[in-house]
Amino acid sequence: MKQLFHILVQNFTKLHPLQHVITRNVNRCKCKTPVYITSKKKIISIKHLVIKKRRKSPCIYEEFPKIRFIPMSKPHLLLLSSSKVHGYEFLEYAASDIKNFLNKSGVSTVLFVPYAAVDHDAYLKKVTPVFNKWGYQVEGIHNNNPIEAVKKAEAIFVGGGNTFLLLKTLYDKQVVNLIRERVLKGGIPYIGSSAGTNVAAPTIHNTNDMPIVYPQSFSALNLIPFNINPHYLDPDSTSKHKGETREERILQYHELPPEYPVHHVLGLREGCTLHVDGDVAILKGIANARLFLRGKPPQEIPLESNLSHLLTKNICVEQELQILQ
Ligand code: ASP
Repeated sequence: MKQLFHILVQNFTKLHPLQHVITRNVNRCKCKTPVYITSKKKIISIKHLVIKKRRKSPCIYEEFPKIRFIPMSKPHLLLLSSSKVHGYEFLEYAASDIKNFLNKSGVSTVLFVPYAAVDHDAYLKKVTPVFNKWGYQVEGIHNNNPIEAVKKAEAIFVGGGNTFLLLKTLYDKQVVNLIRERVLKGGIPYIGSSAGTNVAAPTIHNTNDMPIVYPQSFSALNLIPFNINPHYLDPDSTSKHKGETREERILQYHELPPEYPVHHVLGLREGCTLHVDGDVAILKGIANARLFLRGKPPQEIPLESNLSHLLTKNICVEQELQILQ
């Protein structure tokens, strides 16, 4: 299995000799490991250092005491198109996905983030019995100090509602970076539904919501390197409605000139669930998805498709790499 490591380097200023030494030794260890070397000033990535793996983990640590290999935690994400799907009770269509996902990590209590709604208590009251029925306790982030709550969370569920309100509140409560860190470095499971899925993306540019409040930025948790359009709706050729279709709106986004950093967009129809386990992403649920790669015609994505190639802008490159002090 491919493993990702950070190499944390203490007090090195000259990177080139170090890079050379590590490359030689990683080669000797026969590790199939993308390696990232950091110093106080620079991050150098030796991309795709693909060599066969013989040992369980690299042994360079013993030989170079100032270099430590830290296995990357794998992000565990379950991104739902929506909480409500026609013909099902609230979250029912995803019940077995949610239970399997949480059980894999031995979760007993879920931290619920109701910030996409105005009435946090009412939202918590709606979600709690559903998770209780499945055997999990639920805590509302708003009932405690949100920072402490995220620090202690075993798993996080970010519910749907208005995406602008959600992101603004996450910023106001100063938990954007913390959630990101807990999910990407701490490896705690993250479930997002609709707006909660929007904010798992790099930006919220492809939400369907109205900008009823003004977050300090449209940049979001950046747990995956592409944007999401939840509740994706297909154009209806029989409709008399003349407003833009969802497809046209996403294509408008992709037509922005190159100075705008534009992301690919995955349109999740109601009933889609995207499962991300480390560097593997699989589409599941009860509906196909629609993929918009900039400059290419939209593609239909059937259930069980492997979408891992969309994660290629490797999450670990994006992470702030720590430097040992
Ligand atoms: N309002 C949606 C939800 O959270 C999000 C969206 O449509 O972008 O349910």
